[in-house]
Amino acid sequence: MKSYKILFLAGSQNLYGSAALDVVNNNLRAIVEGLNASSTISCTIVYLPCLTDSGVIEKSILMAENDPDCAGIITWMHTFSPSKMWISGLKRLTKPYLHLNTQYNRDIPWETIDMDFMNLNQSAHGDREHGYIAARLGLPRKVIAGHWQDDRVRREIDVWMRAAVGALESNRLKILRISDNMRDVAVTEGDKIEAQIKLGWQVDHYGITDIENEMKSVSRVEAEAVFEEYSKDYLIDTDNIDSVKYQAKIEAAIKNFLEKNGYGAFHTNFQDLGALKQLPGLAVQNLMKKGFGFGAEGDWKVAALTRIMKLMSKGHQGGTSFIEDYTYHFEPGNEMLLGAHMLEVCPSIADDKPKIQVHPLGIGDREPPARAVFKAKAGKAIVASLVDMGYGLRMIVNDIECQKQKNEIPHLPVASALWKPFPDLKTSAQAWILSGAAHHSVLSYDLTAEHMRDFCEMKGIEFLHINKNTEILSYRKELELSEFLWKNKK
Ligand code: MN
Repeated sequence: MKSYKILFLAGSQNLYGSAALDVVNNNLRAIVEGLNASSTISCTIVYLPCLTDSGVIEKSILMAENDPDCAGIITWMHTFSPSKMWISGLKRLTKPYLHLNTQYNRDIPWETIDMDFMNLNQSAHGDREHGYIAARLGLPRKVIAGHWQDDRVRREIDVWMRAAVGALESNRLKILRISDNMRDVAVTEGDKIEAQIKLGWQVDHYGITDIENEMKSVSRVEAEAVFEEYSKDYLIDTDNIDSVKYQAKIEAAIKNFLEKNGYGAFHTNFQDLGALKQLPGLAVQNLMKKGFGFGAEGDWKVAALTRIMKLMSKGHQGGTSFIEDYTYHFEPGNEMLLGAHMLEVCPSIADDKPKIQVHPLGIGDREPPARAVFKAKAGKAIVASLVDMGYGLRMIVNDIECQKQKNEIPHLPVASALWKPFPDLKTSAQAWILSGAAHHSVLSYDLTAEHMRDFCEMKGIEFLHINKNTEILSYRKELELSEFLWKNKK
């Protein structure tokens, strides 16, 4: 995460004289160094001397725009920085924008406060002047207020930063479609042009033949190396080693193809397996564990979102996976949802060491595929779904609490997560379905709805959040308003 840069642009003006501006720069440097030294802050914040005229403001913003490693800018008006000076620069800004309303001093020095102090601690009014011009220009931005040493403020900055990394990586994400989507299914479809315009995703199709050909060039050594990884990271709980080795070969082939062609995410389709003897299962799971995005049944949107959410949560250990709403537990007072997929759930969310097993699959018409079987850990998480509404893309996020899975499911040998959605299963399911959210989603223990809200704001797409306060009648109203708003956005 430290390789991503955020430019810190502090505003002032020449009215104060150079001695005052020296103090401003010292304060500014202390803030930037303080934030960079904090373990809460993931990216590298870059110090620039305070900006005092429109030429240098525009140049600094263009510096952020042109740097491929720069994910966004933070602005802060240390002193009063007349904001007409910011118009030309801000008009050039397309990258994520955080306005940090802070102040070098935490407390008012009651005994000694005088006009000199006031000249150097003006963000209370300087940042209001700055906020006006951003509002007037209609710029999407996040505003965080509070003292820069406050841990809550730092956590908020980090949420925004991680979303900015997602937005940056989104711009260069390429998604490999192996075949098309599952016949007749609607929600996994979508406007790929819209996705590229709004999110930057390049979505390409290849045939299963391309993967078959790639498999032919996988060497014995390569496949053996993948199998060794399996033996190390998982418990081999089957005698059918040939089936496991076949998944190792598929994995090597898909990985080679992804890397050779610069793809960060991919999907498969069990209706189009060509000469493949098994549906990719363990292969897909291990690729997800390595950070690739995945979607089943032709779902390129969820594949891409898995990739982006994995990149946004880099360095955190909770785990992020493709998941499907599988089946309900309607026990009164203990309602839950079992999430799983027939094979492809990411081992990064496992509570225990996954077991590799081989079982027949009632779908796909192939040999029994090897898969990693495990239970997902307990803890707070989110599920996120991205759908195409025709007028644009919509993201829906639901806060959930994953449960310790006490029950064995011996006859359903899949990786699974069991959760209680907020505010409760009944309301969550109603709201999710009313929103048109998919049965496929991305489950993450590392990200919150706030990360995803920031990401959607940066990318200019609709965002809806089902949470502990959701009440169905007001949610329906919110949906109506949201749809009206986004349908009519220019
Ligand atoms: Mn599915």
